[in-house]
Amino acid sequence: MQQPRNIKAEPNQAFVVSDFDGTLSPIVSDPRSAVFEEGAIEALLSLLDRYKTVGILSGRSSDFIKSQIDRCSQKKELNAKKLKIYGFYGNEELTYDSDVLNLVASMADELKHLLPDSVYVEYKFISVTLHYRNDESQFNNVKAISDTILLKYTDFECLEGKKSIEIVPKTFKNKGDVIRDLLKTHQGGYYLGDDLGDLQAFRVLKTNSNGTTCAVGVKSLDTPNEVVETVDLLLEGTKEAVTFLRELGA
Ligand SMILES: [Mg+2]
Repeated sequence: MQQPRNIKAEPNQAFVVSDFDGTLSPIVSDPRSAVFEEGAIEALLSLLDRYKTVGILSGRSSDFIKSQIDRCSQKKELNAKKLKIYGFYGNEELTYDSDVLNLVASMADELKHLLPDSVYVEYKFISVTLHYRNDESQFNNVKAISDTILLKYTDFECLEGKKSIEIVPKTFKNKGDVIRDLLKTHQGGYYLGDDLGDLQAFRVLKTNSNGTTCAVGVKSLDTPNEVVETVDLLLEGTKEAVTFLRELGA
């Protein structure tokens, strides 16, 4: 494995933030059954005393991530309270008015009627994700229906991910916005990701680098070429991501 890229930032002034799916958790056919890679949560927690901020930045809800941490904690004595969880790409901390939330709910209902059962329509309160991993023949259909629904819901846009399309408010923060905010209060840091939704975070790190940041890609099945080409360091899969995090703490 490649050596961890050393950054020119004091650990106690730096952040280590990671995506969840495909980075700390192997990709699975049903997104509801995703769990942490063995040792991943322990490796992250081992960094808490050393780095200023350690966290998970995911398109998942923070409730989902916390429930996964709790599952690990039941087996071992883990204190994850200091871990920062940025749910819904950091949008959970924003307040959306009821008009937007009602629109998302009705959009999710429409999409459930328009798409076959083989496409999992995940209603996430402030966005809707269409997962076609279990029926890839539906890709064109999912794409066409997403484009059509945007003609009606004009304040929304599509984000493409691995075997999924997410429909989000145009005002949605992206992962790059979260990393940009972190850089205002830290000397630098690491971000680990594997998908198109992580590109904005990688690009912010690279633009503001000066040697103080490291964009870490985690390669797995379906990792887009843009990710491979953009990152500073490429790891092979979630197991190597766990090893990388352990080494940061060593
Ligand atoms: Mg991911």
